[in-house]
Amino acid sequence: MSKKSNRCASPVIGRRGFITAASLAGAAALTPSVVAEAMPIAPDPTNKAAAPSKLVADATSSDVELAIRYLVVANRILAHENVVDAYGHVSMRHPLNPEHYLLARSRSPEQVEIGDIVEYTLDGEPINDTRPPYLERFIHGGIYAARPDIHAVVHAHSKEVLPFSISTIKLRPVIHDGAFMGAEVPVWDIADKFGPDTNLLVSNIAQGRDLARRLAGNSMVLMRGHGFAAAAPSLYEVVRLAVYAPKNAHVFQAALLLGGKVKPLSKGEIATRVGGPSLKPDTPAAMRAWEYWARRAGVADLLPPRPGK
Ligand SMILES: [Zn+2]
Repeated sequence: MSKKSNRCASPVIGRRGFITAASLAGAAALTPSVVAEAMPIAPDPTNKAAAPSKLVADATSSDVELAIRYLVVANRILAHENVVDAYGHVSMRHPLNPEHYLLARSRSPEQVEIGDIVEYTLDGEPINDTRPPYLERFIHGGIYAARPDIHAVVHAHSKEVLPFSISTIKLRPVIHDGAFMGAEVPVWDIADKFGPDTNLLVSNIAQGRDLARRLAGNSMVLMRGHGFAAAAPSLYEVVRLAVYAPKNAHVFQAALLLGGKVKPLSKGEIATRVGGPSLKPDTPAAMRAWEYWARRAGVADLLPPRPGK
């Protein structure tokens, strides 16, 4: 196996044999033009977790190739929806090895392709890849290590949320799709533990772990003067959270400018919205959004066919 084709493989994959080296090599070798023409992945009736309606929602999926494709789609969606720009990134916990995660090499999300996805340990060490990694990859490993329930993480510098990272006014969900951020959005100030002279970036695993401690059991943490980290049980849910959190922040700011009193969602409204059965990753409502975003981003061809189509 060539070095290139091995970049996404882990010893766990090889031992358990859930996916062949050849299929991984094929995925890694796809060029942008080939990606655009990629054949949809046929559903495997023997593999429930890899069913086409499943947006890699949990760690039971055994289809690493599908996971990598979804991660590319997530990168493109977040770029097209202006959640990330040249910087920012999205990862997912490795479907077969919870001690590893998948994340692109150091490349802007809008340009991420299948061959850019690299496997990392939770300490941020790449597996069989020597290309430059994201400096802030420690955000992802820190959160995965602290939160076994989390399978996808987004880090972004969205300007809409930044005011709330430096203000005494707390970011709250104020619109229905803002509910996914939860009732509490803590702010992590890197200076609290690492002093007044950092560059604000999460550039080592100690900082990643400290950020994860501030996130605690919440879904999103703001990073003072820097951005946010969002965490969710699935790739779809973290993309949804990262797309709607800036919109919610924008509306919140607009309401504050109007003057008067702003009414955030109640805890009951948040719980009802988040817990609604129609919004789980494998539902038609979720697929509708995922397909919409993917098509807008020009990567709908990477998605498997939708049931009933
Ligand atoms: Zn950053």
